[in-house]
This record gives sequence, structure tokens and C-alpha cells, in this order.
Amino acid sequence: MKRSLERKLAIYNTAVFAAVLIAFSSVLYLVVREGFYNDVRSHLERMTDGVISSIDYDREDHEEPLPDLIVSQLPASASESLADMRLQWFDKDRKLRIEKGALSVSMPLIVDGGFQTQDKPHAMLFTKAVIVNGALLGYARVAQPLSDLERAMNHLQFGLAISVVFASILSGLGITFLTSKSLQPVYQSIETLKQFTADASHELRTPVTAISANSGVALKYDEGMRESDREKFKMISSASSQMDHLVTALLQLSRLDNKLAEPRTAPQDVGKLLREVCDLTRWLAKEKDIHVVSSMAENLYVESEEDELRQVFQNLVENALRYTPNGGRVEISAERKNSVIEVSVSDTGIGISQDDLQKVFERFWRADKARSRQHGGSGLGLSITQAIVAKIGGSIDVQSKVDIGSTFTVRLRAAAIKTASGVPVA
Ligand code: ADP
Repeated sequence: MKRSLERKLAIYNTAVFAAVLIAFSSVLYLVVREGFYNDVRSHLERMTDGVISSIDYDREDHEEPLPDLIVSQLPASASESLADMRLQWFDKDRKLRIEKGALSVSMPLIVDGGFQTQDKPHAMLFTKAVIVNGALLGYARVAQPLSDLERAMNHLQFGLAISVVFASILSGLGITFLTSKSLQPVYQSIETLKQFTADASHELRTPVTAISANSGVALKYDEGMRESDREKFKMISSASSQMDHLVTALLQLSRLDNKLAEPRTAPQDVGKLLREVCDLTRWLAKEKDIHVVSSMAENLYVESEEDELRQVFQNLVENALRYTPNGGRVEISAERKNSVIEVSVSDTGIGISQDDLQKVFERFWRADKARSRQHGGSGLGLSITQAIVAKIGGSIDVQSKVDIGSTFTVRLRAAAIKTASGVPVA
């Protein structure tokens, strides 16, 4: 339990930390990407403005004005920097007149101007219409490849992914260590509390037994006893036997909690134990005129201590009989489903509300304290049942509807046993 709690806490914390890191890295990636794209956009705008400002509008030879930046031969250093780009000039009829640069451009011209993105090769284009004295002169378009930017973004993405993985692993290790350290005082308090319960129930056992025995003796030899005293002794006897039950249940729970009980397990015949429980509780069924029906498959074996497994079944059957009104019905069934043995006890009793369903396994929880006390109940029966089932490595659940009835189902691992012929059953 300790380990699984620590593991759960460490996993949840690491998952939260990893989620925060992923969110942070995603935002960082998007911000950096947007910054790079903005740089490309402003570079394209600057280049386009450069192309436009190199146009000689009023040429003396009255030739068609063209951007000098594209027409003229540039010094080698400048041409080199433009080689990866594409500078284009379109006349007012959108006809490509001149261009420079090696980048291949396949996008159609957009007359309204603005940015375009081209897939193959990946590039960004910027177009601007040139209007002089209210008349359209033509369009300047500049394209820049995005391959460098893409490469940088891929590096960033890879770097962030690796950092997230490493940071998550390191934080996972750190969190596991810190969780186990910080839970130590909690474990210690729980241990102290468990020890206290175990010691207290152990110490209470002797005086409670003495009170119970002495009041019993007094009632047995009640000659000459006043009626009022007899009533008092009866009350003492009933209260002390209730306390005896409670102390015994508490001691058993502490043993199960502290795993003090020596495992003396052997394959137990589920059908045989259920039949014994039916015999033990027959008086109660008869008293309340409850019809008990049972259907049990043959050869169902579970590895457990006999008394403990019997107690599991007895608690469930007794509860079913106690919380079912006179004339009701209780069904007990046991069957094998693959490697699991399923025992269920259903009743047509008062049922349990949906809100209370999971509380039934809590210590001292009772839907109706007065009713439970009437039959000597302490609210520990199902806690003990659940602890034993968990010890055997099984599970227990409950389904119920108020005023319709309840079904408690115990699932236990089937034990491998050998029949008289030596053939293994499981
Ligand atoms: P108790 O000694 O009070 O019976 P348990 O731990 O066995 O203690 O049960 C806890 C509470 O769960 C009971 O007080 C009762 O309110 C409810 N309960 C248990 N079994 C049934 C059942 N078959 N039908 C209705 N209520 C039940």
C-alpha cells in the first residue's frame, strides 16, 4: 500500500510537471517561430521597398522605367546575397518583365499586394503595387526561401523535446525521492495509531472478559437477588459482550493491518465453507422466515486460512439476513469464471443508498447505528471482510438499491489443487 501510494503520488506529480513543461515549450516554440516569421516579413518588405526605390521614374530617354536593382549588374558580394532570393518586376498588365535570383517561384501574382507562402520550395513572397501620380506603374515582388528558418525551427523543436523528456525523467526521480521522504512522518503517525489500537484492544480484552464472566456468574446464581439488581446485571452482561465483540474485531483488524497473522494457508473448499455458514445462520433465517437459496459449482478452491475465509462468507450472509425484512429472500452463489472464483450474496433487503455504497467498507460506518447495535453490530464486519479479501489477493464490491436489495460479490483467485486421481483441477 505504502509503495503504491508513493508510486501514485510520484506519477501524478511527474505527469503534472511534464504537462507544464510541454505547455511551456509549446508556447516558447510558437513565440520564437512567430519572431522568425516576423523577421522574414520585414526583410521582404525592406527588399521590396529597395526594389521600388531603385526605379528611375522620369528617364530622359522615355524608355519604360524598370527597377535598377534588378536590371543592373551588382557587385559580386551583393549578387551573392540575392542569389537565393527572387526579385521580380511585373508591368501594369501583370506581365513579368525582368527578374533576378535563383529561387524558383510558382505562385500567381496577387494584384492587391501582400504576403504569400509557397510550398515547393518552401518560401515566402511579398508583392507591392507601384503607383506614381495616381497611375499604376507595375508590381514589385520579392521571394525568400524558408528552408533556413525551417531548419532552425526543427532544431529548436528537437532540443525542446529532448529537454522535456530529460527534465521529466530527472524531476520524476527527484519527486519519487521527495515523496518518499515527506511521507515518512505520515507513515510513522499511522503506525503509531495502529500500534495504539492494537495495544488498547489487547489491554481492554482482559477487563472486558472479566466483567462479562462475572456478570454471567452473578446472573447464573441470582437467588435472592433483587429484580432491579438483576436488570442491572443483565445490562452489564449485554454491554460487556458487545464490548467483547468490538475488542475482538479491533484486535483482528490490527492483526490484519500489521500483517501479524501467520499465513497458514491451504486450498479451501469454497462450497463446503458456504454450506457451513448456511448451517450456522439457519436459526436466523428461520427466525425471520427468510428463504435462503444457494447454487454452488463443484471443485471451487481458494488458497486461504480456513477461519478467515469462513468469516468473509459468514459476515456477508449474516448481514444479508439481518438487513432483510421478515419473509424476504437471500441467494448465495459460487461459480468459477476462468481463473477467478466469484461468490455473491444477494438479498431482498433494505438496500444501501448510492451515496453510502463505498462507505460500507469504512470502519465503524453504519447506516443506522441503533439498528446495527441491536444485533451487536459494530460497523467493523465489512472492514474485516474487505481486509481479509485483500490479504487473499481478491476484491469485493457491492451493488444495491434502497428497498430492493443488495448484492455483495467477492472475487478470489482459484487455487490449483489435485483431485484424488492426481489430475490438477486448476
Ligand atoms: P455491522 O456490524 O453494523 O453490520 P458491517 O461492517 O457488517 O457492520 O456493515 C456496515 C453497515 O453496512 C451496516 O451497519 C449496514 O448499514 C450496511 N450493510 C451491510 N450489509 C448490508 C446489507 N446486506 N443490506 C443493507 N445494508 C447493509
